[in-house]
Amino acid sequence: MNQSTDRNIARRLAVSRDYRKIERPLDQNGIPLRISQYYGENTFHYRNAKNIPEAVKNELYQVATSNKPLPKDLADVVAKTAMEWAISRGATHFCHWFQPLTGSTAEKHDSFLNIENGQAVEDLSAGQLMQGEPDASSFPNGGSRSTFEARGYTTWDLTSPMFLLEGVNGLTLCIPTAFISYTGQALDIKTPLLRSEVALSKAATRFLKAIGQETKRVQSNCGTEQEYFLIDEAFYYARPDLVMTGRTLFGSLSTKNQQLDDHYFGDISERVMGFMQELDLELHRLGIPSKTRHNEVAPGQYEIAPIFDNTNVAADNNQVLMATIKRVAQKHNFVALLHEKPFAGINGSGKHLNWSLSTAEGDNLLNPGANPETNYRFQTMCSAVIEALYRHGGMIRAAIASAGNDHRLGANEAPPSIISAYLGDTLDKIFMAAKDGKKPDASKETSMDVMTQQLADLNKDNTDRNRTSAFAFTGNKFELRACGSEMSTGLPLSVLNGAVAEVLNETADFIEKSGKSADEAMQDVTKKWISSSHKVIFNGDGYSDAWLIEAERRGLPNLKTTADALPLFKDVKKTNFLTEQKIFTKEELETRFHVLIERYNTIREIEFDTLIQLVNQYVMPSIISFKSTLGNVIKMQKDISFESSVETSLYKKLNYTTETLFSRVENLNNGLKGLPEDGEKRSKVIADSLMALSEEVADLCGEIEEIVPDNLWTLPKYYDMLFLR
Ligand code: ADP
Ligand code: MG
Repeated sequence: MNQSTDRNIARRLAVSRDYRKIERPLDQNGIPLRISQYYGENTFHYRNAKNIPEAVKNELYQVATSNKPLPKDLADVVAKTAMEWAISRGATHFCHWFQPLTGSTAEKHDSFLNIENGQAVEDLSAGQLMQGEPDASSFPNGGSRSTFEARGYTTWDLTSPMFLLEGVNGLTLCIPTAFISYTGQALDIKTPLLRSEVALSKAATRFLKAIGQETKRVQSNCGTEQEYFLIDEAFYYARPDLVMTGRTLFGSLSTKNQQLDDHYFGDISERVMGFMQELDLELHRLGIPSKTRHNEVAPGQYEIAPIFDNTNVAADNNQVLMATIKRVAQKHNFVALLHEKPFAGINGSGKHLNWSLSTAEGDNLLNPGANPETNYRFQTMCSAVIEALYRHGGMIRAAIASAGNDHRLGANEAPPSIISAYLGDTLDKIFMAAKDGKKPDASKETSMDVMTQQLADLNKDNTDRNRTSAFAFTGNKFELRACGSEMSTGLPLSVLNGAVAEVLNETADFIEKSGKSADEAMQDVTKKWISSSHKVIFNGDGYSDAWLIEAERRGLPNLKTTADALPLFKDVKKTNFLTEQKIFTKEELETRFHVLIERYNTIREIEFDTLIQLVNQYVMPSIISFKSTLGNVIKMQKDISFESSVETSLYKKLNYTTETLFSRVENLNNGLKGLPEDGEKRSKVIADSLMALSEEVADLCGEIEEIVPDNLWTLPKYYDMLFLR
């Protein structure tokens, strides 16, 4: 068999696809419906259900926003209404949808079928809505329970809408749930996030009360900007590394990739646009408020951003969004790569988490308003967030640690693994003045105007000017830019909420005890926080080596790899703020440490094994084919007494690189055999020595790819994957 068959077929397929055309929803006159006419048609929230009486809705709202238990008769009303709605839309099954520590989602389906007195009927009972009992033994638990007591419960999350999961031949009603163990331990991502919302709301309402502003509740909000790559599915299936690990383990860069910066915000190709249009349609029907779509920096890379929502709903929506991207991509013969680093040497993908706090009335506490220099509530809030970042930047780093994200952080495309804050000039001036107990020098009327103008300009410029910052203030929100594209947002958001809640509680204490007017007390507390935390503010170039040195001088942690970062989860001093506020128990944190470190190790080991296989089964055979061609020519030239050094040099060069490759693969193999049993030690060896070795192997494969004739190279190249479509 000609070994280049797969690659060539893939290349031909990729450039000859028919564009998929879908039926847009139309009105009776054949005019396309407005988004608002089909928005949310595949989602169900009791709040919007016409058949549920207002009194029931109000009672449910009370339950959802307090600690009150859910009365069964109320749940029954929702269960019956949701079921009728789902069936009317074609659903046959329901499932409790949850987010175990695998990082993705899980669902166990049951049909609505019930047999009553020998008759088939449909039913969804209050009990089935409220609680499920999936066997938890096969989900990661980091040794928190032995398998014989593997009972886990899923419980309905009233605050997040249900939605319909469309399959080729039917629909399933998905009920968002939390997943907890028999003993009440959180086995998922959602439970701690919900707890962090409670802690944050408590602290923020206390602070507001202390300054004379009463509100029932404060919530955190999140808007996610999701990056991803699209490649033709034929290439995907011809690259075992993509299928097994989600990223190419090696590849020689195409001569043009992102040097010309011509992809970012560029024309969206017709085939990709067709995909994006269907994606938006699906998301809007699911009630996910997709807003922005554009090309990203790297060829084949794109971004989608929905309108922000409460963090819990936004976290659920992001999971559904990622699954929908993958599902719709397949319909267009694409595969969506959500991995943080699908292609070495080309920008990877992140997920920016735009984060803010607002009251039940929708008042954004991070809104600087027209006069930030005298907006003391804003200054207090903002300085409290910075203090939180200063104290707990390490834990925030740990919460975004993953094998995939290690390729981005510090790779001059994403903010470094040092977590610092960016404020921009205007706010920096205000806070530095506050620190020194001075008024900002713009207190005069005229320059105050200038300052506001600057702020307006600054807001526009922010994204561009501080791409290098991990945590940037962008107008009326902070943007955590270090989160990886593939990861669930729940963990970093829980930690961030917890960190801010801790400082807001202390802020409330301070103001309550100060005996001064609210304005004076807020100025004092702002000074206190900025004096203590200004070291975490950095407005310069986060990609520069100078910042690495400067950050070290300032004593900011630089946790370079996942192996460095994860141990923070079991460091009581670092996690006190989470346990004291009841966001995590000590055991739950240890569980996460074990699960995440094991996940890191396993991902890396799969990558190493796959790399070795690819070398043996693809790279070496290509080399041998070329060597045999070269050898024949050299022999033939000898036979006719013709002297040429070209073929011999090539042969030697190829041979030398191949021998080096062979020996490095041996080393990697031996390294893998000698890995320590203990998870933490294992992760250290992997991160600190095997990774470097595997990257050397990858570089050698890349070099060889450039020497071997194109027709003898059997794996799809970066050129194919990123440009042929
Ligand atoms: P960018 O300049 O970074 O592209 P955008 O204004 O497009 O910023 O917003 C990016 C994301 O931030 C969107 O998801 C948007 O809904 C979200 N966002 C806007 N305002 C807020 C806010 N107050 N809190 C949280 N997220 C917000
Ligand atoms: Mg942004």
